Amino acid sequence: MTETPPPTHALVDLATFDANLDAVRDRVAPARHMFVVKNDAYAHGADVLVPRAVQRGVEWIGALDIETAQHVRALVGDDVRVFAWLLSARDDLAGAAGEGIDLGVGDRSVLEAVASAGTTSPVRVHLKVDTGLNRNGVRLEDWEPFVARAADLQSEGRIVVEGIWSHISEASDDDDDHARTRFESALDATAAASLTPAWRHLSASAASFLRPEFRYDLVRVGAFAYGISPAGGPHEPELGISPVLSLRTRVVDLRDGEAVLPLGAWHGVPSIAAGKVHVGIHGSRARVLRIEREWMSVAAPQGSRLGDEAVLFGPGDDGEPTATEWAEAIDTIGEEIVLAVDRRIPRIYR
Ligand SMILES: *Cc1c(COP(=O)(O)O)cnc(C)c1O
Repeated sequence: MTETPPPTHALVDLATFDANLDAVRDRVAPARHMFVVKNDAYAHGADVLVPRAVQRGVEWIGALDIETAQHVRALVGDDVRVFAWLLSARDDLAGAAGEGIDLGVGDRSVLEAVASAGTTSPVRVHLKVDTGLNRNGVRLEDWEPFVARAADLQSEGRIVVEGIWSHISEASDDDDDHARTRFESALDATAAASLTPAWRHLSASAASFLRPEFRYDLVRVGAFAYGISPAGGPHEPELGISPVLSLRTRVVDLRDGEAVLPLGAWHGVPSIAAGKVHVGIHGSRARVLRIEREWMSVAAPQGSRLGDEAVLFGPGDDGEPTATEWAEAIDTIGEEIVLAVDRRIPRIYR
């Protein structure tokens, strides 16, 4: 891309993305990486990142809902596994099954609906056990009859059980350990029902990186692939990843030692961060003074000029903080900072 980008844009660095994907792959091997792309690839733009990930060797895409899964299927063709796990009665289950989408099922009635959705070939399902988050998933005390029914449906050729999975908080090692114990019980009961699915998956970014026993066959990693580290946890360099997206603009006014930037709360910059963060301006750290609706001001570094590029957050190599550092300053998580960036701000891919 040789064109000059618009003054305000979100730069998505594809070489960094590739490197993060490699880091995930190497870290979790021999488990495979399911690249999670909900919310338009964490606001990075799924249309560009999904094909890129597949080119880089990713074999599984985690799409959240059926609509996203079908969009992903259209982007990447039939060779890639696409997983959707937020199903509702109104969904086009038959359409999804026909497109070979793997469906996460955490409820008996959904299991029956999915089993009735297959046309010519059995529907690929991943049975979800609730290991303690109480969001969805079949509770351990109901698991045996659930897998028994799944085994029947499989022998009738209506479904094929491809996976057993759950989701954990990754906020406390103790809670996660308890969850894993429940997961193991569910796996034992599954084997007792003569089901031997190839794909057991439990962990997202943090546990996949830091706790090898949570990896099983497949890990569902979003955040770390985008280079977003956990707030309060190990930072990017320690994890061997780097932020993919940087939010960039230019100085539009200079007065009384303040530099004015044309980004504010209405563009998704959290106003409560005023006074608590800095931005990068040609390599210097510039303290954020005010965040108004449509603009913000920072303490102008020595020698600032109109038109200087300012980086609100990014990889951190030009004086700017990372999204996670913004998050830590206002007690949230890096994903929230990145997802808040107004979708009308152009994403520029480099
Ligand atoms: C979002 C999500 C993930 C990915 O989590 P990260 O922390 O971003 O890696 C994994 N599994 C499920 C079920 C999710 O909803």
